Amino acid sequence: MSNISLQDCQQLDQQDALSFLREEFQLPKEVINMDGNSLGALPKSTLQKMKVTLEEEWGNGLIRSWSEAGWFDAPQRIGNKIAPLIGANKEEVLVADTTSINLFKALTAALQMNPTRTVLLSETDNFPTDLYLMQGISAFTQNRIQTKIVSQENLLDALQEEVGVLLLTQVNYKTAHIKEIESITKAAHEKGILTVWDLSHSVGSIEVDLEAAQVDFAVGCGYKFLNGGPGAPAFIYVAKRHQSAAKNVLSGWMGHQDPFAFTTQYVPADSIERFRCGTPVILGMAALEAGVDIFQKTSIQQLRQKAIQLSELFIQLMEQECSEYGFQLASPRNAQQRGGHVSYHHTEGHAIYQAIKRRGIISDFRTPDILRFGITPLYLRYQDIFQVVRMLREVMSSKAWDKEEYKVRELIT
Ligand SMILES: *Cc1c(COP(=O)(O)O)cnc(C)c1O
Repeated sequence: MSNISLQDCQQLDQQDALSFLREEFQLPKEVINMDGNSLGALPKSTLQKMKVTLEEEWGNGLIRSWSEAGWFDAPQRIGNKIAPLIGANKEEVLVADTTSINLFKALTAALQMNPTRTVLLSETDNFPTDLYLMQGISAFTQNRIQTKIVSQENLLDALQEEVGVLLLTQVNYKTAHIKEIESITKAAHEKGILTVWDLSHSVGSIEVDLEAAQVDFAVGCGYKFLNGGPGAPAFIYVAKRHQSAAKNVLSGWMGHQDPFAFTTQYVPADSIERFRCGTPVILGMAALEAGVDIFQKTSIQQLRQKAIQLSELFIQLMEQECSEYGFQLASPRNAQQRGGHVSYHHTEGHAIYQAIKRRGIISDFRTPDILRFGITPLYLRYQDIFQVVRMLREVMSSKAWDKEEYKVRELIT
C-alpha cells in the first residue's frame, strides 16, 4: 500500500458530505481540537442564543420568560431533542444538574426499586466519579449498601443475587472500548439486577439504542460530544416503564407535581419531571440547546460513519509516520468496538501531550501513560488528522518533547 499523503486527505475533505458542519463552529485559528470528547468546541449559534437569552429573555422579559421564553420547559424540551441520539422516546430524557448528581439520583432510585438487595456493582475501569458516587451512597447508608468493584473479566460472574444495581459506562473514557450494552443489560436482568448506564462518552458520538437494550436508567454529559459548553447541564434517562415507581431522593420543589402550589407535602410529578431537583440553570441550558440543535442538521449514523473513517485514517497514519517512536494503541483496533476517541500508551505521554499542545494541538493525557485524541466528526477534517500525526512525528524525531517543563504533571489535563 502506498503512503497516505496530505493531498489524499484534502481530497477526502472535498468529498466529505458533512464538511458543511465545520462552518457551524467558531474554531480558533492555528489550533486543532483533538479534545472534543472532553470539551466540545463553541458553536456559532451558541453566541447568538446566549445573546438572546441574556438581552431579550432575561433583560427584557425578566421573570415572564419562565413561561414566555420556554425556560420552565427547557429540561424536558432539550431532553426530547437528546432522546433520538440515544434510542429513547420523548419524555424519557430530562436535562438537569450534572452527570455526577444524576448518577446519584439514578443509583438511589434503582436501589429503592430493588429494596432487598444490598450491593452496588461496577468495575475498576469505570470513570472515577461513578465509583465515588457509589461509595458516597454506601457511606450514607452506614454500609448497609455495599459497593463491589470488580475487573472487567470478572463482571459477568459478579452478577449475583445480592446485587441490586449495576452501574457501567458504555464507552471507556481511557481506551474508548465500547461495552455490549444489550447483552450485559440482559444478563443483569436475568439476575433481577437493574442497570444504570453512563453515556458520557457515547451521546453524540456513537449510535445508542436504550430501548432495544431495555436499559433501566442512564445518565450522560452535556459538554463533551454535545458541545454544550464548560459545565453544561447533564441528562438523566428513566425508562417509561419505571417512571411511576422510580423515586428521586433529591426531592426538590421543581420535581413536585405542582411546584407553584407551595404545599407542605412532597408529591412527585407523574412523569420524568420528578427527576428535576431545583431551578434549572437557564444560561447553561441555552448553550446546551444550541449544541444539541446542530445534531438536527445530520444523523448520528452519518456522524459515526465519518468518525470511524477519521479514526481509521489516524491509526493508519500513526503506523505510517510514527511506528518507530514507541506509541502503542490503547484502543480497540476494531472500529466497531471503539468509540469516539483513539488512545495510545506512551511512556513519555505527558511530555508529548505538552509538547504538541504548545504547538497548537489540543489532546488529553490520562494517567499513567495514555495520550487521548478525541475524533469529533462535526468539525475535524481529514487534513487535520494528517497535520496532527505529522506534528507528532516532528516532536518525536526532533525530541522536542524532551524538556523538563513538559514532564511536570499539570493539575488539569
Ligand atoms: C465526563 C464524565 C462524567 C462527568 O461528570 P460531571 O458530573 O459532569 O463532572 C461522568 N462520567 C463519565 C463516564 C464521564 O466521562
